[in-house]
Amino acid sequence: MVKRLIEPVVLFGGSFDPVHRGHLEAAREAAEQLSTRDIRLIPCHIPPHKDALKTKPSERVAMLELALADYPGFSIDRWELEQSKPSYTVDTLRRYREEIGAERGLVFLMGWDSLQTLPSWYDWQALAALTHFAVWRRPGYSALPKDVEHWLQGRRCSAEQLAAKPCGGVALLQTTPCDVSATQLRALSATGVSSPLLPEAVEQYIRQHKLYQNC
Ligand code: ATP
Repeated sequence: MVKRLIEPVVLFGGSFDPVHRGHLEAAREAAEQLSTRDIRLIPCHIPPHKDALKTKPSERVAMLELALADYPGFSIDRWELEQSKPSYTVDTLRRYREEIGAERGLVFLMGWDSLQTLPSWYDWQALAALTHFAVWRRPGYSALPKDVEHWLQGRRCSAEQLAAKPCGGVALLQTTPCDVSATQLRALSATGVSSPLLPEAVEQYIRQHKLYQNC
């Protein structure tokens, strides 16, 4: 067993438009497997890979704040929202490295779909020198592109093994699958149908603020 003296810093980036149980439960299970209570959710400002977001940054943050009431140890990092340029993960990770130093473990969480698109991320080859990755499967997503398979060689390890180094590993986690996306939940909200996969307080906020009416 690899002993870690200080918990890793665990980051989870996304558009969270809106945040839902798929995000939250996967991150909660990941936190358990990584033996940390410090999970920082990083809502992105202008996602480089997506169409324009449907809500304002302040609304996404408000929904995250409501949702996180049920998730002790989770916090929101607003740094990307404060930037005027696109949210490149590599910039966020460099900022964290400056803050926590070279030795502390840093783990970036992501679902399988994000792993599949990793080569399209800005300066993606620089990422593993800054952080570990912990990845979970997402229903409906299967094969990885060849360049990602190649990149994974020599990096794959267990969640526990990530503790041996500050960065460079990729752990494939077993989490409970939750077949939902923010896209589906926006469409449901537009028709006024509620979903147990949206935290109740988030659903109320969406109704009160009439969000996603044209989705
Ligand atoms: P959209 O439908 O708007 O594309 P999304 O629900 O896929 O949004 P994002 O905010 O784009 O969510 O995703 C952020 C991260 O959360 C990604 O790493 C993604 O893989 C992960 N994720 C999203 N939905 C789920 C889910 N149902 N289960 C597990 N992980 C998820």
